[in-house]
Amino acid sequence: MEVHVIKPQGYCYGVVRAMKLAKQVGDSTDGPVYGLGQMVHNRHMIDDLAEHHVVTVDGPNRARILEQIDGGTVIFTAHGVSPEVRDLAARKGLRTIDATCPDVTRTHDLVRRLAADGYHIAYIGKRGHPEPEGAIGNAPEQVHLVETMADVEALDLPPGKLAVTTQTTMSMWDTQDLVDRLRERFPSIEVHNEICSATQDRQTAAVEQAALCDVVIVVGDERSSNTNRLVDAVRDRAGKPAYRVDNVDEIDPAWLRGAQKVGVTAGASTKTQITRAVIRYLEALAPQ
Ligand code: SF4
Repeated sequence: MEVHVIKPQGYCYGVVRAMKLAKQVGDSTDGPVYGLGQMVHNRHMIDDLAEHHVVTVDGPNRARILEQIDGGTVIFTAHGVSPEVRDLAARKGLRTIDATCPDVTRTHDLVRRLAADGYHIAYIGKRGHPEPEGAIGNAPEQVHLVETMADVEALDLPPGKLAVTTQTTMSMWDTQDLVDRLRERFPSIEVHNEICSATQDRQTAAVEQAALCDVVIVVGDERSSNTNRLVDAVRDRAGKPAYRVDNVDEIDPAWLRGAQKVGVTAGASTKTQITRAVIRYLEALAPQ
């Protein structure tokens, strides 16, 4: 097969930073070291951390995970945590290490600043994902999660100062549609787009370069928001078929039937070696 490696793709600086910090802490700490949820959303990266003595404890939300931990060191993941979780960890006497991506921290600062100034905030994000949980936790009374157009239609914001902000890994295009409708419903709403540049660059590249391909394989974990948004972007914005795979074994050759050129991209938390294995497999594959 002819393979087009879409660039940029793969690791972002927030993932590299979090993984490096977690490995250093795991290797240099006596006593148990826990990741409070998945450090980044990729099971291969979590397996790597286990080799560096970092035990990942997962659960429905960060406070519930903390309940399972008694003593030792806890690492906050790249997705960030709410003030409530920081306070709970302090009350439990845990040593804490913060691997929150600086781009996520910036969103938390923004939410706190706006809330202190009396704003009500629509936050565009994915329900059940840890990043909205942490960001909204900075001002739960004043931040309102919206994920879909139906949420926007149902949103009831009080009169006064209004703003909209976003999870860092949302689709640029879907977010714009939601923001446009929010502006129609609430003309005074201030827009603070917090989709990070790593996400924007990868989505833009995927859509532009998918035009050169017949089908696109997106390598990444099923829980990775930015990975899933790459699949959506290729399908919805470039109009090309796109398939997410966790690793080379998940590729179905039937997807490539009749294709001359296959594009490959990867989520920001996808292990580079896994993406390279996918590329090698596709290059060695006879046209289907
Ligand atoms: S995708 Fe963006 S926000 Fe998330 S870790 Fe990477 S740089 Fe940070």
